[in-house]
Amino acid sequence: MHTQLAVLGGGRGGYAAAFLAADEGLEVTLIEAEPRLGGTCLLRGCIPSKALLHVAKVIDEVDELTARWGIEYSTPHIDIEKVRARKEKVISTLSGGLKQLAKRRKVKVVQARGVFEDSTALRLEGHDASIPEGGRLTFDHLILATGSLPAMPASFASESPRVVDSTGALDLQDIPESLLVIGGGYIGLEMGTVYAHLGAKVSVVELTDGLLPGADRDLVKPLQRRLQKLFEKRIFLDTKVGSLVDRGDAVEVAFEGPAKFGIEYYSRVLVAVGRRPNSANIGLENTKVEQDSRGFVLCDRQQRTADERIFAIGDVAGEPMLAHKASHEAKVAVEVILGKPAEFDKLAIPAVVFTDPEIAWAGLTEEQAKRDNIACETALYPWAASGRAQAIGRTEGLTKWLIEPESNRVLGCGIVGPGAGELIAEAVLAIEMGCEVRDITDSIHPHPTLSETLMNAGEVYFGTATEIYKPNRK
Ligand code: NAD
Repeated sequence: MHTQLAVLGGGRGGYAAAFLAADEGLEVTLIEAEPRLGGTCLLRGCIPSKALLHVAKVIDEVDELTARWGIEYSTPHIDIEKVRARKEKVISTLSGGLKQLAKRRKVKVVQARGVFEDSTALRLEGHDASIPEGGRLTFDHLILATGSLPAMPASFASESPRVVDSTGALDLQDIPESLLVIGGGYIGLEMGTVYAHLGAKVSVVELTDGLLPGADRDLVKPLQRRLQKLFEKRIFLDTKVGSLVDRGDAVEVAFEGPAKFGIEYYSRVLVAVGRRPNSANIGLENTKVEQDSRGFVLCDRQQRTADERIFAIGDVAGEPMLAHKASHEAKVAVEVILGKPAEFDKLAIPAVVFTDPEIAWAGLTEEQAKRDNIACETALYPWAASGRAQAIGRTEGLTKWLIEPESNRVLGCGIVGPGAGELIAEAVLAIEMGCEVRDITDSIHPHPTLSETLMNAGEVYFGTATEIYKPNRK
């Protein structure tokens, strides 16, 4: 069988590429090893974790009503089967939708594992009826969108069902009495939040000296303070896990670090120490595609690999491993294949950690500015001065702009607080449009909303903030 465009991988990047290419008139074959479309994001990542984080948030808000507003409910009974079923329903609805969208566009979906025979053909492995006779597919172009897999260092790899990765944690088999999360990054903190609200005693161990390495410290601080309470102070920084041994009724964990040293026992351990590109065992050595030492496929700003027919997008094509980066790279790859002058040229790829409070940032960060010696000024607006934040009792938030001193252009933005992930979209647009701080402060923001903090932070920069908060700069 021959196709104009083969897309290998049916995740957030792959299906976006396939649908767009079909809309543009290309004849497309989408190859996905799993029975359902959606990839990590939909089947075992972004979407199921957000469904569970929603449950965690409601439980937390109810607790808050009792603690602060004198409104009491009885202790919640958690029917874990129903929670799991509801999460599955969200996934199957969306995955079913993708199947329909593919059908409507006449994208041929083949359920198989694709392995490169050379730069022009894939061998299709599997037994599904969708595999063409001969199990071989030749193509004019191919977009590689095979994503990433949880990293499992050899010292943590275990046959034990008590040691899980993010996929196992999202399966939500039960609520363990105690859970140790190894890795204080995106996954560790999001899943730790879910399990803690469902009733598990959660501990987090992080190798470096702070949670979410790479994020600005002033944004992490309010989250860390809240997590200290949720995890009952069991956040161990600068700490290594030496070994994990399943002792039958618990996992024995050996810690080495200033805050924790010695042996502890946990009902379950979640290993969330990063992800690795899914580029092994797919025959890339039979093509001219080049990879770096970590296995990421090398490509240029047009998503071209070293092999002229093959493009790469999403997690397999490099960091940040974020679904929204994948879908935008998909657009670039398809446009370049169509002969359009596109390239991936973004000033801001937003990052959101969906904890409570959420942390979001876009464009330049203060950590990056310090590291790369980039001149910038900051304008901060603490949410304690926001009427809306006071009304909802979430005054720990902070909104921050990073500004180019000469031009007053906004270079970056960081937000911590509930809903930060939604608020950051305005900053992304402002950075991409080359806005100056004045553009933000002159735009009327609805009152009373948390979005005003973006405008107020800009006013702080000019020393014109009229709310309770009086800045002392300029
Ligand atoms: P991560 O890179 O965010 O965090 C891994 C953490 O583990 C780091 O803090 C690291 O210092 C720590 N670590 C590494 N080795 C360790 C060890 N031996 N012991 C203790 N700590 C150790 O990785 P992740 O949380 O696994 O997530 C993987 C990727 O998935 C993320 O980088 C992100 O791109 C993506 N993701 C995004 C979202 C989102 O957008 N909200 C959510 C989940 C995952």
